[in-house]
Amino acid sequence: MPRTAILIVAAGKGERAGRAGPKQYEPLTGQPMLVRTVQAFPDWPVRVVIGPGQEALYRGAMGPDAPEPIAGGPRRQDSVRLGLEALAGDPPDFVLIHDAARPLVSRAIIARVIAALEAGAAGAAPMQAVADTLRRKEGECWITVPREGLYRAQTPQGFRFADILKAHRDHAGTDATDDVAIAGLAGLAVEAVPGEESNLKVTTEKDFILAERLLAGETRSAMGYDAHRFTAGDHVWLCGVKVPHDHGLEGHSDADAGLHALTDAILGCISAGDIGQHFPPTDDRWKDAPSWKFLDHAHALVKQKGGAILHCDVTLICERPKIGPHRQAMRARIAEILSLAIDRVSVKATTTEGMGFTGRREGLAAQAIATVRLPSNSDAAGQG
Ligand code: MG
Repeated sequence: MPRTAILIVAAGKGERAGRAGPKQYEPLTGQPMLVRTVQAFPDWPVRVVIGPGQEALYRGAMGPDAPEPIAGGPRRQDSVRLGLEALAGDPPDFVLIHDAARPLVSRAIIARVIAALEAGAAGAAPMQAVADTLRRKEGECWITVPREGLYRAQTPQGFRFADILKAHRDHAGTDATDDVAIAGLAGLAVEAVPGEESNLKVTTEKDFILAERLLAGETRSAMGYDAHRFTAGDHVWLCGVKVPHDHGLEGHSDADAGLHALTDAILGCISAGDIGQHFPPTDDRWKDAPSWKFLDHAHALVKQKGGAILHCDVTLICERPKIGPHRQAMRARIAEILSLAIDRVSVKATTTEGMGFTGRREGLAAQAIATVRLPSNSDAAGQG
């Protein structure tokens, strides 16, 4: 596997009208834009090039575990060159150079750039065909400019590290607005991969509003259901709590129907199949397993997509044991497993008035619904 490093260029003064600070440190849905941009690259080492005097801003935004910032130069291309020089001591195979002002870059775009490099391209960059009619004013006339062959360049722009470093060194004095331009001067062939409208460069106040809307993403809800049969025993596990009872529950794991239903609900929110696919009952690893592990796994899958669980609600259906005395402990345990505030976790109980298998006390059942927020640039949101 080729080693890929990410270089984020955040050296611009980029001051927004009426605001004091550089735009890359301005909040977007509660987090500095730069933090959002760095978080878009969770699987690669990231270095950030910052502007003069921005070190305190950088450390304040990024926290104590931030990678050491690289001091940039007066122009963008100077900052990129200094960034590449900083990586040259331990050179990666590929480098992706990305603007801090594009926090909405999707995993799909990143994957396309890397795939093109892996397939042998000297460089690869996302490009968007121009859809609007283009005009140029000549005197009193508007001349239509043919848009065929015109593209809007986005980032990340990816290159073989040694090639782009040499290109920047050789052309350090010339003006260039991005790295495709520098690559062009060096005769490197850059392949276009599809960009995305949502990968906008946040520049104006309107862009901030649009980016916040996109980052707010979408919410999804899904349900889960499970049932287990009573067997001999002296306790049952329900919603992660050991409840004394005159029977146990039959199952391959600890038979916690509440957590199983909730795990399926969370998997459903990200269309990730069901609990049986992830933890087959034929697999001895899950024999007598505590079910919080299943829930934790589903939660990890949501986090991998950049998502967060907003709320969950479990209904336990049984005549016995009585759920009421354990309800608070169950909510607390689920909240603990999912790192949620307890007011985002609901546990309810009902009987079936003596009807059906739960009424006959042959077993118990559980239903759950979960609500998850996913970023609009997650693979799950249809851009993968
Ligand atoms: Mg089950």
